[in-house]
Amino acid sequence: MKEKIDLLGAGLIGSLLAIYLRKRGLDVSIYEKRKDWRKMDSSGEGRSINMALSFRGWKALEKAGIREKVLPYTQPMYGRRIHDEHGNTFFQPYGKDNQAIYSISRNSFNKLLLDEAEAQGARLHFEHKVEHVQVGNREVRFSLPDGSAKTVRSEVLIGSDGAYSSLRNAFQSQLRFNFKQQYISHGYKELSIPPAPNGDFAMDPNALHIWPRGKFMLIALPNLDKSFTCTLFLPFEGYKVSFENIHDDQDVDQVFKTHFNDAHALMPNLLKDFRRNPTAALINTECYPWTENNALLIGDAAHAMVPFYGQGMNCGFEDCYILDGLVEKYGTFSWDLVFEKFQKGRKPDTDAICQLAMDNFVEMSDNVADPKFLIRKKIEARLHELFPKEWVPLYSMVTFSDMKYSEAYAIGKIQEKVMDQVMRDPLITQNWDRLDYEDILHQVEVAGAV
Ligand SMILES: Cc1cc2nc3c(=O)[nH]c(=O)nc-3n(C[C@H](O)[C@H](O)[C@H](O)COP(=O)(O)OP(=O)(O)OC[C@H]3O[C@@H](n4cnc5c(N)ncnc54)[C@H](O)[C@@H]3O)c2cc1C
Repeated sequence: MKEKIDLLGAGLIGSLLAIYLRKRGLDVSIYEKRKDWRKMDSSGEGRSINMALSFRGWKALEKAGIREKVLPYTQPMYGRRIHDEHGNTFFQPYGKDNQAIYSISRNSFNKLLLDEAEAQGARLHFEHKVEHVQVGNREVRFSLPDGSAKTVRSEVLIGSDGAYSSLRNAFQSQLRFNFKQQYISHGYKELSIPPAPNGDFAMDPNALHIWPRGKFMLIALPNLDKSFTCTLFLPFEGYKVSFENIHDDQDVDQVFKTHFNDAHALMPNLLKDFRRNPTAALINTECYPWTENNALLIGDAAHAMVPFYGQGMNCGFEDCYILDGLVEKYGTFSWDLVFEKFQKGRKPDTDAICQLAMDNFVEMSDNVADPKFLIRKKIEARLHELFPKEWVPLYSMVTFSDMKYSEAYAIGKIQEKVMDQVMRDPLITQNWDRLDYEDILHQVEVAGAV
């Protein structure tokens, strides 16, 4: 008899995990609270939220055998295009040799993964909202659209039900479960830039656009239909430019004309978008343990991070890759062993990326526009060019490699210390080209990062 596994949540992570587990021959059911959105007409939605897919995500898709299916849905972004307040733009490549991150619509991606999971034989149960989980016997009570309830007892239960996970809530009533959540001071709103009148992209289609303004910023990622999805990040309150100070269309126009004038000219639907789309909060959650009695948390349910490193989904996909490797190694005779190995090995890495994601808000919203920061990036790029194996910038370690996040974090801290020292030179702006690069590398070696 095939072993039965129940997944809660058919988001990006649950769908990919279902593909992996089906490929291992397990009997997989997914329970999802939403309607089957694949059958719904999405033309009226008007919103297309997109995500940046990078190396770790691709690697997980490749192992699941669906890389080639995903590729046509993506648009490569080779760097950041920074927009200053005067409408000038500057391009900062992400890496070398045309390294890119890839923009993909969340909806199309989730549909594709779910179709694939279903094609592999996973059973999908939509409109099943988890109301309660009894961790002791893995009994899950669902509410159905007609108001009735259904109870399922699972042999193995995995919570891929996102940042507000019901399974995690149930874990909280267990002994010695640690949980920490933090809403940051900023929220976000999705906006859009349609194609230009000639039908083409209105801006550089191969970049992630950023309008960094210190305490707030706007970003835009390209879509395949030649539009851009923009995300406005603002403090909720406490600053002149904040959500609490935007009361009407006039205020929206005023903020955009003053701070994002070049974008404003490309946003005919700004006021409508702003009124219609919700203002959403940003949360970081960390918890432990992730497993209890043959039940496991994965993806955002285990570690929801703020989006400033573009890693939440990539990290969740990497979770699936690692879990699959453990199933391959230890088999399915002892899920407790597999889950225990998973949480022990993975937790330091997800803690590291959660922290890096928090730290990166300052880099994206403020530093990228600072001339000294640009020099610093140039020095780091030169170091990487001269010593490609010995000096890899933190962004590249996180985004273009599968080095453990915790290791990237530790090396990044050493690099930061050495670079802080280098940048203390008051003449660095003139001298950066003539530095003793071997010596900088030596300092890093002495500190143990190479
Ligand atoms: C603004 C923003 C931008 C982002 N950009 C990026 C990016 O560029 N790159 C990147 O890698 N990551 C990004 N992320 C992070 C990424 O969105 C998440 O890490 C990812 O969606 C997590 O997937 P998941 O499947 O774990 O959770 P989710 O996507 O939240 O899916 C959870 C699923 O569970 C279902 N569910 C929830 N509760 C229940 C219940 N009670 N019963 C049944 N079903 C339930 C939900 O309906 C949903 O389908 C971004 C996040 C935000 C907020």
